[in-house]
Amino acid sequence: MTIIAGNWKMNHDPDSSSAFFKKLQSYGPIPDNVKTVIFPTFLCLDSAQKNSSGVEIGAQNGNPEKSGALTGEISIFDFPKIDINWLLVGHSERRHIFKEDPKLLKRKVETSLSLGIKTVYCVGETIEDKEKGLTEEVLKKQISYLENFLSDENLIIAYEPVWAIGSGMPAGSKDADEASLLCKDFCKRDIDILYGGSVNSQNVSNYLSSGLIGGFLIGGASLDADSYRALIDAVA
Ligand code: PEP
Repeated sequence: MTIIAGNWKMNHDPDSSSAFFKKLQSYGPIPDNVKTVIFPTFLCLDSAQKNSSGVEIGAQNGNPEKSGALTGEISIFDFPKIDINWLLVGHSERRHIFKEDPKLLKRKVETSLSLGIKTVYCVGETIEDKEKGLTEEVLKKQISYLENFLSDENLIIAYEPVWAIGSGMPAGSKDADEASLLCKDFCKRDIDILYGGSVNSQNVSNYLSSGLIGGFLIGGASLDADSYRALIDAVA
């Protein structure tokens, strides 16, 4: 089963989100060998769930505290109560724009896994790391923070080289395979590895032949029902 996860970031409103799912439905059922997940904004969670028919819905972010004086935050503990069973943690935008540090990311993963939520933990090197030959070291370090949780079957790793996100310059399939092998090695098991970074329906099949990439985390190409369905068809 190949996972095709769409990260909508701060795009779509409840109306356009419903329109997306209605259009997606018009293409007919999702093939059985593909698992689809969409991570909409918080404001779209409800309308997405009501219209998603077969597509699982996840949260892009969450706070590891149960409750408290944390204005503007949303607790991870509340997601299962509204049937949200997927969470993104450690996306490069959270790490770099919002300065989320490894200690916080670890607490998010710990809380999420303790609630049985499928947790997609994003890792990846910057262009500077890559140019200095530090990719392996960076991945090892980012994964090492989770050392107590690596055996949890609800943990999924997304390898997203920072330089490939939204740049139109995807990693080559050989590099993605190498990173996948490293991540599996650091996790000491055959954990599911998603690749993310400028994936679209034209290039997605390049990553499937080795069997080392278990799915994709998609930004831009997940925003439009036509291109999201084209990705599903290319993978199926
Ligand atoms: C992402 O934001 O996780 C991502 C992979 O974006 P894009 O597909 O647009 O590169």
